[in-house]
Amino acid sequence: MESSIKYVKGVGPKKQMLLKSELNINTFEELLSYYPYKYIDRTKFLSVKEAKSSTETVQCRGYITQIKSEGAGPKERLTAYFTDGEAFIDLVFFTGVKYLKQSLKLKEPYILFGKPKQFGNNVSVVHPELTVDKGGEPNGQLYPQYHTTEKMKKEGLQSKQLFQIICNALDIIDSEETETFPDWLLKYRNLYPKRYALNGVHRPRNFEELNAATYRIKFEELFFNQLKVIYLKIDREQKYKGNKFPIVGDLFNQFYSQHIPFELTGAQKRVIKEVRHNMNTGVQMNRLVQGDVGSGKTMVAFMTALIAIDNGYQACLMAPTEILASQHLASILEMKHDLNIHVRLLTGSTKIAARREIHESLEDGTLDLLIGTHALIEDKVKFQKLGFVIIDEQHRFGVAQRAKLWRKSIIPPHILVMTATPIPRTLAMTLYGDLDVSVIDELPPGRKPIITKHYFDSKRDKINEFIHTEISKGRQVYIVYPLIEESEKMDFKNLEKGYEQIADDFPDRKISIVHGKLKPKEKEEEMMKFKNHHTDIMVATTVIEVGVNVPNASVMIIESAERFGLSQLHQLRGRVGRGADQAYCILVTGDKISKVSKTRMQTMVDHSDGFKISEVDLDLRGPGDIEGIQQSGDLLDLKLSDITKDGDILADVRNIIFKIAEKDHKLAQPVNKKILDMLIKINKGLFNWSDIS
Ligand code: ADP
Ligand code: MG
Repeated sequence: MESSIKYVKGVGPKKQMLLKSELNINTFEELLSYYPYKYIDRTKFLSVKEAKSSTETVQCRGYITQIKSEGAGPKERLTAYFTDGEAFIDLVFFTGVKYLKQSLKLKEPYILFGKPKQFGNNVSVVHPELTVDKGGEPNGQLYPQYHTTEKMKKEGLQSKQLFQIICNALDIIDSEETETFPDWLLKYRNLYPKRYALNGVHRPRNFEELNAATYRIKFEELFFNQLKVIYLKIDREQKYKGNKFPIVGDLFNQFYSQHIPFELTGAQKRVIKEVRHNMNTGVQMNRLVQGDVGSGKTMVAFMTALIAIDNGYQACLMAPTEILASQHLASILEMKHDLNIHVRLLTGSTKIAARREIHESLEDGTLDLLIGTHALIEDKVKFQKLGFVIIDEQHRFGVAQRAKLWRKSIIPPHILVMTATPIPRTLAMTLYGDLDVSVIDELPPGRKPIITKHYFDSKRDKINEFIHTEISKGRQVYIVYPLIEESEKMDFKNLEKGYEQIADDFPDRKISIVHGKLKPKEKEEEMMKFKNHHTDIMVATTVIEVGVNVPNASVMIIESAERFGLSQLHQLRGRVGRGADQAYCILVTGDKISKVSKTRMQTMVDHSDGFKISEVDLDLRGPGDIEGIQQSGDLLDLKLSDITKDGDILADVRNIIFKIAEKDHKLAQPVNKKILDMLIKINKGLFNWSDIS
């Protein structure tokens, strides 16, 4: 499977280069896992009436009633009226006309094969394949269709030629060498052997075979995907001890009994318990906490940090932006009251003197909790005894950054990753299968659901009237725009133009403006003005998306909402509804929007649950597209599997892998050799597997 495709019949140096440059296909394995994107079905006949409303290639039985010729010489074209006695369809020919005029016979039974196209009111098939119908069942098959590029087409490497090359490769591979699963696993789930499955996917004889073959390939993709993440976790647990935090000490207890400003929600309690359990097992924790916006993650972060500090360790909390880091500092300082802990903030704009103090107090151990941006992962930042790391808003940090934090301590710290981007369960498993996952699936009590409405641009007056009313009641309003500068081609509202319009519409209101081009300090100042209610309206781009907390702001207007993804819309909406007042989110779109955009708007109007929304999102966009997931693309090497639909297979393979790991966690048994080989192969360069195998 790892041999070069130059050994395949039909692949000369030119095609070899072309396949490499256009599709990145170099080996048999890459060639054979270049799967068809669809199949043309020649296993059945449609009636002419059915064929006329199809957009696929069709096959029908019938006869020709009349043949008409138009034009002359090379411009001559032929139209044949084809019918099955019920409906008519035009067959059109531009080439080979002379021959066809002689050979096509009226009233003769034919099998028509081709793709119907609508021209005005008329449906016709251009250059169909016509064969004499000898009766009986269709003896055709499923014809695979492969994506090719313009360049490939120009060089004569179209779907059909590619299919031929793939067939040539299929003919010479070895069943035993191709197989990636041990026999017991094939039998256990009644799976097609690999070679048989490849055959069944590329040249299926019927749907049954295609389905069974597809199942085997999906099973394999998900199996090795999960094997990788699950064994990554096993490997880590074997290799690294974790700090033990057995003490629930004074700080935690004092805070809980004296300072906690509200009753924790059941979900918050549960997550704190899960973390506390991890912290005391002697195994390093890697836990992902998913909690919708406003679910109270900061409290969980703070209380679990207290446990680490109670046990004599230092903790740090890393946020993706300065605004967020400062906000965390502010709410933690407020929560901590007179608790005797030393907390500092470190960001890119921390002054040198303060920086020096922070470095020193980190190294001598007097600083308990450091809050900051990615400035925290700089090499200069050294802890005396780092035991616990909290990362807020996971999707902005990559795996590499997580790893960097680890190395700040000989025994790696426990890691808690908090994200407000709810990820559907199946996706979380494929992406973060190496992390334990906690979910804060409950909002603090008394929150009124945010009323969400979708308005078209043409209803501008109504929207403005509403803004007026809310501001008169003492509320504040966000207005968010997707773009900073006007794009020439596209007619989207830009922030500056929007700002001028708003200034015109609301002459006696104070307006803040925040966008990505401001310096962090200017941004902060504008945010603070709004937060302290010195301004009524905040005009902004998505920089306010993450985490900003202004309880008095109760209206979120999202302009050109069709430009935003669902999860972004949900995040933006989460900026309001943080106070006691009824909150509103108004999605403003152009009058003409696509069907998908309409579905997105309606989803927002109908649902407030981030998980539900993320499922719809996954459905509409497909897994590779989810915001923030792109960076993890290497983890999602799935070609046929669709994690939105193949959740059952995913659950099944996970169970099987856990069972294997229980009995043979080193994959040392001969019956698991094939699995071990594959794991080593997929982990090449990822981590040093030899440590455990
Ligand atoms: P997020 O999960 O979005 O980071 P926050 O931690 O910012 O949410 O919490 C949102 C708001 O809810 C804050 O004002 C916080 O004080 C409040 N809050 C958190 N937990 C509770 C609770 N159990 N009961 C009432 N209010 C809570
Ligand atoms: Mg938060």
